[in-house]
Amino acid sequence: MTTTDTPSAIPATGYRLRLPGPTEVPERVRQATARVIVNHRGPECKTAIGETEEMIRPILGTTNRVMFFASSGTGVMEAALVNVVGPGSQILVIEHGQFGERFTSIAKAMNISVDTVATEWGQAIDVAAVEARLRERSYRAIVVVHNESSTGMVADLAALGALVRDRPTLLIADSVSGLGGIAMRQDEWGVDIVVSASQKALMCPPGLALASVSPKAWRVIEQDERRSVFFWDFRRALKSIEQSETPFTAPVSLLYGLRESLTMMHEEGLPNVLARHEQLSGALRAGGAALGLADFCERGPRSNTVVVFRVPDGLEGGTIVRRLYGDHRTVIAGARNRLSGRVIRFGTMGAFSAATILTDLLHLEDVLTKLGLPVEPGAGLKAATKHLATTT
Ligand SMILES: *Cc1c(COP(=O)(O)O)cnc(C)c1O
Repeated sequence: MTTTDTPSAIPATGYRLRLPGPTEVPERVRQATARVIVNHRGPECKTAIGETEEMIRPILGTTNRVMFFASSGTGVMEAALVNVVGPGSQILVIEHGQFGERFTSIAKAMNISVDTVATEWGQAIDVAAVEARLRERSYRAIVVVHNESSTGMVADLAALGALVRDRPTLLIADSVSGLGGIAMRQDEWGVDIVVSASQKALMCPPGLALASVSPKAWRVIEQDERRSVFFWDFRRALKSIEQSETPFTAPVSLLYGLRESLTMMHEEGLPNVLARHEQLSGALRAGGAALGLADFCERGPRSNTVVVFRVPDGLEGGTIVRRLYGDHRTVIAGARNRLSGRVIRFGTMGAFSAATILTDLLHLEDVLTKLGLPVEPGAGLKAATKHLATTT
């Protein structure tokens, strides 16, 4: 399939998966997923689960047990709610983008009583407004997206954790697109439940999700409330992980993949992994700015794992997305929400390097030029390389 109508000066190369998830899977990880399938309750699988859990704990910043599920990220978002919210209890969802809205939709589908604090997309969360709501009402949990992939904005989990520290309220965070690319200090910040998934900064194929639950949240989960939960029951999952197992058939191949990608992250060194995300996302933003693309988030705290640009007036985001794929096999994202057509999004997470983002900028410059934008040749690459040189 091609959408090319003008031959490009730069021939299309290989397929370049540059989405904010799923992300490119390193060859080492891909090979690990191709290993022979073993008994999901045998010693080989127990070893894989045990090593995976051990290696992911420092990435989460926790000493909690970490439970694994065969699922995409949305499954564990639902699981986080269904395990702690009993009949009559109420939650507060912080909406600062599409995935916050998804939490509200999940809660509504479960008939949970839900209040929301909505922040304008691309603006920082108003922690004082959240605190005011907590004073008015007693919530079972505050629910927030750590890294909003739809806007490129990050939530201040330390500040939110401080709000619930001396209250019975729990803090639940979706770090599906954050974990492994931006800092997570679950225990220090007081985040009670962190959920994440394999296909983003953890650079694995899609299909493996995880949840890490604090002692405070376990006390709530163990209360004898009648909850409609079976597959997602954290109590059952805890009993299993204590045996280095999962309650139901483990996604053996994906666990092998995740063990390999975590090994790679530890080889690189966790501080280096986070610094690489920070430096390269900054370089892509600098390059985009030089091409005339404004950052969707005018002020911080911006994400280091997803870069969101406003589409210049007169252009349509989908056109840029299609041209990048058609002319260059570079796959980026637009928006499937209220920002549709108005933003383009690049993943800056997982397995990517300076060469990756410089290639992105080369392709972007070519496409923007062809679409009639007055772009100075090489401006994006120049700004990005300058950023790289001044931040190493
Ligand atoms: C990708 C993503 C999810 C999960 O989406 P799935 O398609 O269910 O894996 C959840 N939250 C955020 C912030 C995400 O970026």
